[in-house]
Amino acid sequence: MEQIVALSKRRGFIFPSSEIYGGINGFFDYGPLGAELKKNIRDSWWNDMVRRRDDVAALESSIIMNRRVWEASGHVSGFTDPLVDCKESKQRFRADQLFFAPVVVDGKTIGVVSALESERTEEELQEKAEQLKRKNAVQGNLEPVEPRDMTEATPEEISQIPSPATGKPGSLTEPRNFNMMFETHAGALRDESSVVYLRPETAQGMFVNFKSVIDTGRYKIPFGIAQIGKAFRNEITPRNFIFRSREFEQMELQYFISEDDDWEKWFRYWIDWSHDWLVSIGLPAELLSEYDHPKEKLAFYSKGTTDIMFKYPFGVQELWGIAARGDYDLTQHQKESGVSMLYFDEAAKKRYVPHVIEPSVGVDRILLAVLCSAYREEEVDGEKRTVLKLHPRIAPVKAGIFPLVKNKPELVEMAENLYRKLKQRHNVFWDTSGAIGRRYRRMDEIGTPWGITVDFDSLENNTFTVRDRDTMEQVRMTEDEILALLDEQATC
Ligand code: ATP
Repeated sequence: MEQIVALSKRRGFIFPSSEIYGGINGFFDYGPLGAELKKNIRDSWWNDMVRRRDDVAALESSIIMNRRVWEASGHVSGFTDPLVDCKESKQRFRADQLFFAPVVVDGKTIGVVSALESERTEEELQEKAEQLKRKNAVQGNLEPVEPRDMTEATPEEISQIPSPATGKPGSLTEPRNFNMMFETHAGALRDESSVVYLRPETAQGMFVNFKSVIDTGRYKIPFGIAQIGKAFRNEITPRNFIFRSREFEQMELQYFISEDDDWEKWFRYWIDWSHDWLVSIGLPAELLSEYDHPKEKLAFYSKGTTDIMFKYPFGVQELWGIAARGDYDLTQHQKESGVSMLYFDEAAKKRYVPHVIEPSVGVDRILLAVLCSAYREEEVDGEKRTVLKLHPRIAPVKAGIFPLVKNKPELVEMAENLYRKLKQRHNVFWDTSGAIGRRYRRMDEIGTPWGITVDFDSLENNTFTVRDRDTMEQVRMTEDEILALLDEQATC
């Protein structure tokens, strides 16, 4: 992770937000290459999800909506994470990420240890238990720790759990619900009546516009509404770089189906679609897995939720959630707004509130997965080569254009002509400085799939050397062949 964070900063992918003022926890800025990479991820999803399909309509709804939307959706009362305060250090922790375990020697509890969630929470607790046993000079057999999180702790246990901030017990509070929606005020009056929220998901925009979209576009169910946009969550502990931040971007689809349709078929369809799409932008299938939420943990209206998980360097974590939400959301808005959400199905000759399947994914989480899986350090001819093996579809720069030498005007002119021409259609980069090998290496590090060198042979036969980033093999191609290659492999 450190190498990826360092590369992101060094090469202009991602910067901490407001860095010159010391930054702000949970917010990030995308630099020149990061902005291009992110745009390519968005565009690839948009093209595959909306433009290349007949059954998905586009939407761009506002970030701030009438607050009744969030009352109806349940976010005002229920969009919470359990929060624990440390009264001594004033630090705050998510109760479900703070683990503890009684330390038991020969059946007798000699104390309690705690650790924050990581890939090695259990080992850390075991080590701390051994330390406590040594410190208290207790003889006997230490039993393996049995970690639980703080949402499961009794008041008596809470008084014994050491704070992760101070290492001492007695300062942690009982968990309480913390609403993660950011609040602000709309209009000049700053009182309770003007409170509004920054949306914590884009999904509600699709639900509240369902009627308008269907009435104006003559869509027939099954069909979906898709949107890409910013979402905001006041996460208690933003962490793992851009994985969990407070401002992020979502790409969401609400796919509406008939109440009589086979929801499991569509649920499976969208899980597979999402998985295959991730592979199409270059994520290795072996780093992806599925996690089915246990039935007893689902919300009462939910028929099923499956997450596509990705193996990040800090553990296997949720990348994309696919949920079968029944008719809950539309029914809820129908009830609270008084506006009918009924759809007339001409084929079935009946009216019903459609059911929905929702695939929801974070752009930033995809981008992090992409960087993590593409990053390689290799040895080439005794030298270290850092390379980002980005799929050409999403690579921020598609090709570097290099005149072999700077001091031969006709060669430079030819290279510049090629550069200008390619740049009309693709993001290509012009570089004349340093030995050609150095120029290739700089492109490797930012994931540029091809390096194109204009050399003396080019002046003779109008072909150029095209070097492949991954194999480092070189072939000669004409301008038309290069354009065809980029059009075919490097468009979103
Ligand atoms: P988590 O359990 O990781 O908090 P979630 O289940 O609350 O996620 P959803 O509400 O299902 O997430 O949101 C859909 C998608 O939005 C997630 O799969 C993830 O890709 C993205 N996402 C959610 N929260 C964040 C965040 N704080 N930062 C970045 N992306 C996020």
